[in-house]
Amino acid sequence: MNAIHDPRASRKTRTERPPLKVSFEFFPPKTDAMEERFWDSIGKLAPLQPRFVSVTYGAGGSTRERTLRLVSRIKSESGVDAAAHLTCVGASRAEVDAVVEGYKRAGISRIVALRGDPPEGAGQPFTPHPDGYRSAAELVAGIRRLGDFDLSVAAYPEKHPQSPDWRADIDNLKRKLDAGAARAITQMFFDNDDYFRFVERARKAGINAPIVPGIQPIHSFRQISGFASRCGAAIPAWLAERFEGLEDEPETHALVASAVAAEQVLELVDHGVTEFHFYTLNRANLVLALARLLGVRPD
Ligand code: FAD
Repeated sequence: MNAIHDPRASRKTRTERPPLKVSFEFFPPKTDAMEERFWDSIGKLAPLQPRFVSVTYGAGGSTRERTLRLVSRIKSESGVDAAAHLTCVGASRAEVDAVVEGYKRAGISRIVALRGDPPEGAGQPFTPHPDGYRSAAELVAGIRRLGDFDLSVAAYPEKHPQSPDWRADIDNLKRKLDAGAARAITQMFFDNDDYFRFVERARKAGINAPIVPGIQPIHSFRQISGFASRCGAAIPAWLAERFEGLEDEPETHALVASAVAAEQVLELVDHGVTEFHFYTLNRANLVLALARLLGVRPD
């Protein structure tokens, strides 16, 4: 994000403003039907030529093989660059390093490097494997030793739930970037002021790397509020009010969801944001519409 606040930036045409960069996050599908939707969504979003499409790493490394298979196939079949997520949970350094070597052999040069959460859930204390990486910062340093990867790390506009205070949170982000990550991607947030304040804190602490907002379109308010509470992202009262009573009105729910997400991304553009990461939940439609609002469309 640059510091320029131009309330009309979102009203500029594609040729009048700097190109916006987007990336799309997917999760490994569990069933054949889900896999079909996954590839259908990749097929719809790949023509937008995102900077990369990323695939998450299941809790405790449960999707190790699937993540690798999916990112390799995305790259070879869609021609879009793919990033594999990787966590330190329940694995020794040697085991994690072997996964990194596997990515390297498959030609995957982008990794989203994370500590991960214990299998018991995001709110539980993290106990590292006795021979494992103890944090994302250590993981970034470990991956760096193995090759020249483009690394992204996680950032938390509302503070990571386990950070005792803001200072510890921002110091941790700085450690991850100083260890060799190129950018931070944020956890979902719904109040842009949290993001603006976070970026300001990071810049004051000497962090200059891009802090890419992670945008979560609300396909289902009930589902997303569940995710949000598990990962420490607040649902503002005004947002809950907008979706109140829409559980059985899918059409209105979908229209409100696109209006809410549109308002969020356009306000970010007006504040100088030029890079976006979308949590797609393996669905293309809302993200396609948002990309179009950002002037990102197939060439
Ligand atoms: P870290 O940066 O290591 O920090 C975790 C906490 O530990 C922070 O509170 C930090 O302050 C503290 N800490 C770190 N080092 C120290 C230290 N030396 N001393 C004291 N405290 C310390 N999870 C998955 O399982 N799979 C995924 O694919 C996945 N993808 C994600 C993608 C994005 C963009 C984001 C934002 C999150 C993702 N997550 C994923 C969730 C992530 O694993 C959790 O949020 C996890 O709780 C923290 O991971 P981290 O990489 O931020 O950890």
